[in-house]
Amino acid sequence: MSLDAKIPEGDISQKWSNYKSKVHLVNPANKRNIEVIVVGSGLAGSSAAATLAEMGYKVKVFCFQDSPRRAHSIAAQGGINAAKNYQNDGDSDYRLFYDTVKGGDYRSREANVYRLAEVSGNIIDQCVAQGVPFAREYGGMLSNRSFGGVQVQRTFYAAGQTGQQLLLGAYSALERQIGMGKVKMYNRHEMLDVVVIDGKARGIIARDLVTGELERHFGHAVVLCTGGYGNVFFLSTNAMGSNVTAAWKAHKKGAYFANPCYTQIHPTCIPVSGDHQSKLTLMSESLRNDGRIWVPKKKDDGRPANQIPEEERDYYLERRYPAFGNLVPRDVASRAAKERCDEGYGVGASKMAVYLDFSSAIKRYGAIEVTKHGIDNPTESDIIHHGKEIIKEKYGNLFDMYKQITGENPYEVPMRIYPAVHYTMGGLWVDYNLMTTVPGMYALGECNFSDHGANRLGASALMQGLADGYFVIPYTIGEYLSNEIRTKAIPTDHEAFAAAEADVRGRIDRLMNVKGKHSVDHFHKKLGKVMWNKCGMARNAQGLKEAIEEIRQIRAEFWSDVRIPGATDEFNPELEKAGRVADFLELSELMCIDALNRNESCGGHFREEYQTEEGEALRDDENFSHVSAWEFKGDGDFSMHREPLVFEYIKVAQRSYK
Ligand SMILES: Cc1cc2nc3c(=O)[nH]c(=O)nc-3n(C[C@H](O)[C@H](O)[C@H](O)COP(=O)(O)OP(=O)(O)OC[C@H]3O[C@@H](n4cnc5c(N)ncnc54)[C@H](O)[C@@H]3O)c2cc1C
Repeated sequence: MSLDAKIPEGDISQKWSNYKSKVHLVNPANKRNIEVIVVGSGLAGSSAAATLAEMGYKVKVFCFQDSPRRAHSIAAQGGINAAKNYQNDGDSDYRLFYDTVKGGDYRSREANVYRLAEVSGNIIDQCVAQGVPFAREYGGMLSNRSFGGVQVQRTFYAAGQTGQQLLLGAYSALERQIGMGKVKMYNRHEMLDVVVIDGKARGIIARDLVTGELERHFGHAVVLCTGGYGNVFFLSTNAMGSNVTAAWKAHKKGAYFANPCYTQIHPTCIPVSGDHQSKLTLMSESLRNDGRIWVPKKKDDGRPANQIPEEERDYYLERRYPAFGNLVPRDVASRAAKERCDEGYGVGASKMAVYLDFSSAIKRYGAIEVTKHGIDNPTESDIIHHGKEIIKEKYGNLFDMYKQITGENPYEVPMRIYPAVHYTMGGLWVDYNLMTTVPGMYALGECNFSDHGANRLGASALMQGLADGYFVIPYTIGEYLSNEIRTKAIPTDHEAFAAAEADVRGRIDRLMNVKGKHSVDHFHKKLGKVMWNKCGMARNAQGLKEAIEEIRQIRAEFWSDVRIPGATDEFNPELEKAGRVADFLELSELMCIDALNRNESCGGHFREEYQTEEGEALRDDENFSHVSAWEFKGDGDFSMHREPLVFEYIKVAQRSYK
């Protein structure tokens, strides 16, 4: 099957407007008869469901948590980008588009990214109208801060809980529709298969996680907003429940999976401290606005940070990348930290950490504050006291979190940080309409292969999820549904529903009947180690080949030795986990195949064989300027389709942040 991205004709700045004025519409009376299933109620799902219901469609929403408010989106800390140019620092739609394409190492689709930049301003307006309490300047204007990979301040934020506030906004919009009976909400329901009839997505099979009952649901279209799959690495900054199951089932029913190997490793996370951990904690990228990253200049320097004099500190990002300094993109900052630690300059007990230090910022802010407070001849402790107050105002909750987890006070000593798995740029392939290769099945938010190429810029995921949900799908779904107005609801006793349900039941029974010796986590941890060591921050052909073999081995062991206590027809979190890990054990193989296949380095995909003399990612545009979209052929059998990437509006170059 050839991949048609369905990019509209015309100049890039006109494509979306032209599309919107010509797209087919569904009239209000017909909308009332059309049912749309939205799976997932994070930022992408809640915004999509609320908007589609507001437009008049009948919407059913599913999530596996007990409330949409618990979606992983709530964890987002730092902010959301928008090209509003409130700072008058030269921002524009084009610049946001340019930064995003460059940040993604020229591996994203121009037309989609431009549209994202174009609607970014609307997102802020929409959220402000909903009452999202973005940070404001003294005069009332919305405040902005900087994020990595850009030289303007375009990140809107609500202290260190931007995701939570945005989600409350989207959730309120969703609740309104639930209250009016236009959305039916299914909490604690997990989608375990898609039903495809005559080549079109027509429904899902979901398990009621409280009773264990399997349910059949019809929809004229199915919209997947099910988040990312970073937990394939076991340890990640993602919520514990985040998983690939919905996307993977869709993949097995015909949706191509694009660029599965593109994983984002975030540079500022609390380092791993032992084998007991089940999760890693992010320290938001916003901290790099004021925190300076350094290691001692001397190898194996055991002195505490505050005993190392200024001249013996290596601010390696500022040294290597003077133009962007501590605000280089995540892939660059992560690799630089790894390089220093691998060379023996790491700090802390494990030596796998670098410092993120706020002492300069405390002094800088303190000096301004004492002047503002009219303190003549301030002492150093006056300055530091006032500086800390400002830092607290900006990042207080993140500092508290760090202190609670590590027992160290980051106002007094630098934070210790190390890169960790954070986001997956890969996902279901979608065209300009956000439709997968299965007609009638859409993918939004982190679940799709996204606009972020091989490396997402900070604060761009919230932007993309809400752009997809509030502003893109409401138009693009009409293009498809306008041809479905004569399709009557298909009864769920249709043989395709029965067959899908039987498959799901068969797989659950198989899992329960293994009755082996080891817990689900035992296998998940094993898989995570292989993925981190061989398909993590750095990869090479030899390691990837070994990883594929090891994953197959772990998968075989899992299916013969996993132990799931409890029963099928009851609340059974261990069974839920088992199903998700079984899918990770299949996806991980494809990730390694994809990484092995992509004989270049780009963004977060760093193949050790392909690097510049200075250790930067070395792309091969001649052979790899494409999206790799994988078709499922059978267990462990995938075939690759290419979507060539054509750059008409951006000159492709070696990325430089120097
Ligand atoms: C710690 C952290 C901080 C972050 N900070 C930022 C930030 O500051 N700025 C930024 O732009 N991005 C940030 N990100 C990234 C961003 O939060 C996510 O990419 C984004 O929130 C994903 O939204 P989503 O709606 O696509 O998915 P999610 O919020 O993950 O929602 C997924 C939904 O799908 C449902 N679901 C999944 N599978 C199934 C299934 N099989 N059946 C039923 N329901 C299912 C879940 O219940 C949930 O409702 C951060 C990420 C992390 C981990």
